[in-house]
Amino acid sequence: MRLTLAHLYPKQMNIYGDDGNILALIYRLRQRNITVTLKNIGLKNPLPLGSFDLLFSGGGQDSQQQLIAPDLFKRKSVIQKAVQNHIPLLAICGAYQLLGNYFQPLNGPKMPGISIFDAYTVASKQRKIGNILIKSIFGELVGFENHSGNTFLAPTAQPLGKVILGFGNNGQDKTEGCQINNAFGCYLHGPLLPKNPHFCDYLIQTALSVKYRRQVKLTPLDDRLETQARAAAVKRTRKLHHPLLKYFQ
Ligand code: GLN
Repeated sequence: MRLTLAHLYPKQMNIYGDDGNILALIYRLRQRNITVTLKNIGLKNPLPLGSFDLLFSGGGQDSQQQLIAPDLFKRKSVIQKAVQNHIPLLAICGAYQLLGNYFQPLNGPKMPGISIFDAYTVASKQRKIGNILIKSIFGELVGFENHSGNTFLAPTAQPLGKVILGFGNNGQDKTEGCQINNAFGCYLHGPLLPKNPHFCDYLIQTALSVKYRRQVKLTPLDDRLETQARAAAVKRTRKLHHPLLKYFQ
């Protein structure tokens, strides 16, 4: 089998090491002898529908978002059709915000989003920074967040999960991220997929099943190291969010 990953704006949208998500996908595909092609899609690079089996884009500062937003907007119909065709998509933080209806930064004009997720984001002076743990249909997901934006979901929009520890979408309603079909947006840097290999495998398995139009079952990998690393990340998150910690800060 083979899979083509498209990495949108790898130069501009890659803060906090979000390209580690691509490394995790490539590693876990190659470990299963699945041929993987990586397409780095920069500004103005073509990305026709049908040319990718999984789409990823990472986080970025407001200025980088300003830079890519007009180019992303031109890709609205292709990405919307890909999501309607159940192609998996993962968007982290800045990319997640621009896959909503709009992002209003603290300074500068409102950036139109491409409305994959029925949500909007407004920047706030209180940056939400720290380790985050959420409960999702994939079990617990652990990561690291750093965003000024408060994201609010429409009543019918489905969050990726519920915040156990951390801020999440807006630090108010305990939601984190958003999902529709096989498109997932969230604030979890880390990077997300190396810290949550089971979610990485879910995206791979889904992409292969959609591409080959049959239920693909991945062979399990020896994840002893990954499991230990993930447990350490969850433990650290719980420790750093311990209620008594505030008396020592
Ligand atoms: N610039 C956006 C914000 O501050 C996104 C940040 C990010 O991608 N980490 O909310």
